[in-house]
Amino acid sequence: MKTKTLFGTNGVRGIFGADLTSEKVIRLSKALVHHFPKGMLAVGFDGRTSSPIISRIVCSALYSEGRDIRLGGLLPTPCLQYAIKYRNYIGGLMITASHNPPEYNGIKPIAKDGIEISREDELKVEENYYSNMQSLSNFVGKEIVEESMVESYIDTIYSLVDFEKIRDRKIKIVVDGGNGVQGPVCSSLLKMLGCKVMTLNCNVDGDFPGRGPEPTVNNLKSLSDAVVSAGADVGVAYDGDGDRSIFCDEKGQPYSGDKTGALLTKYLLSTKKLNTAVVCPINTTLAVSEAAKENRANVIYTKVGSVEVSRQMVKSNSIIGMEENGGFMYGKLNEVRDGAMTTALVLEMLATYSKDSFSNLINSLPRIFQFKSKYPCPTSTIAEKVMNKVQAHGNPKKIETLDGIKAWIDEETWIMVRPSGTEPIIRLYAESTDKTLLDSKINEYVRLIGKELQST
Ligand code: MG
Repeated sequence: MKTKTLFGTNGVRGIFGADLTSEKVIRLSKALVHHFPKGMLAVGFDGRTSSPIISRIVCSALYSEGRDIRLGGLLPTPCLQYAIKYRNYIGGLMITASHNPPEYNGIKPIAKDGIEISREDELKVEENYYSNMQSLSNFVGKEIVEESMVESYIDTIYSLVDFEKIRDRKIKIVVDGGNGVQGPVCSSLLKMLGCKVMTLNCNVDGDFPGRGPEPTVNNLKSLSDAVVSAGADVGVAYDGDGDRSIFCDEKGQPYSGDKTGALLTKYLLSTKKLNTAVVCPINTTLAVSEAAKENRANVIYTKVGSVEVSRQMVKSNSIIGMEENGGFMYGKLNEVRDGAMTTALVLEMLATYSKDSFSNLINSLPRIFQFKSKYPCPTSTIAEKVMNKVQAHGNPKKIETLDGIKAWIDEETWIMVRPSGTEPIIRLYAESTDKTLLDSKINEYVRLIGKELQST
């Protein structure tokens, strides 16, 4: 298989002005024009300082190839994806580096169905990029500013949940926008849903001076404090471009994305009688498969990466998908991660189980202990050696190799080791219903990985 040199796990990213140069942006935009069939393209951008200028460069390249463009302007990634899918555009380009540090930016190509282009299409775009591309047109394309994308996105999410039930409950919620673009957009939706909304870091700022653009269970102290002091029912934090969401309960306790995802899966499968498989990467918590089993639904596992999940959802006509980092997907809107849609579903769940708090609902999930860590690993050759060692180690019940190595110690205990697709690191994930067994297995595997990394 050919190796990609431009695309990472999520579009093309780099530091603007260093490895993401204007020339690269122009060439990539042209390679994409050559890829997409004739028709209208949509362009949008996140709140990074370099995003408006990159958008101008992208648009200029598209106009010069004779393409007409709908300009969505500043909006969350799932909003542009929604617009592309529902307004029959032929595709689009989102300027974003999601949760990366402020100096980064990137381009995420979106296909006609509102989902990131497939891995195969990324390869085709790379072929165009490195080929001698001839100009496609002597004409210059037209630009139409589409101001209603955000409004229509919010209205559609509103219509997909039981808004009357949510409005009756008058939920108190703290929104931590992380200075990204979803904070203000989702706050408007929440007000429409009758919530009492308190905001943190909801001013869009490309320097991300609040808690940074990536919400994790470890950096949401101000959200937790704000939820407790306001006596709120729930708190939510978004990443820079608003596709990922991390929630905390009424006590300020934040939960990993797959824990909230497991809860939503349980809620959606049991109350909406959805006839669907649940799609998630192979490193997802056992709580999801338990929730699926209880409701006689299948789980389809994919490689790690949201594009893998989205594309599988389309293939298997699934309504529920998720990633462990807070990317939850509700296929009734679109098979993509969406912070605003996920928040609306969490509110609907809280309104439905109005006698229970968020923490009570989380406690209804099976008690599973988790461990996640990462180790610097400078080259892919070293990573391969580590993986071989892990694969040959011990006497696990079963080994899966869909992505990295997942070793099942027993039916409720697994360890997974996988080189990252975007950084020079190796990730270790582990889970068990038995804390003592989990701790001893983590020690064993951490020692094994450490020894192999030191010896190289
Ligand atoms: Mg993102």
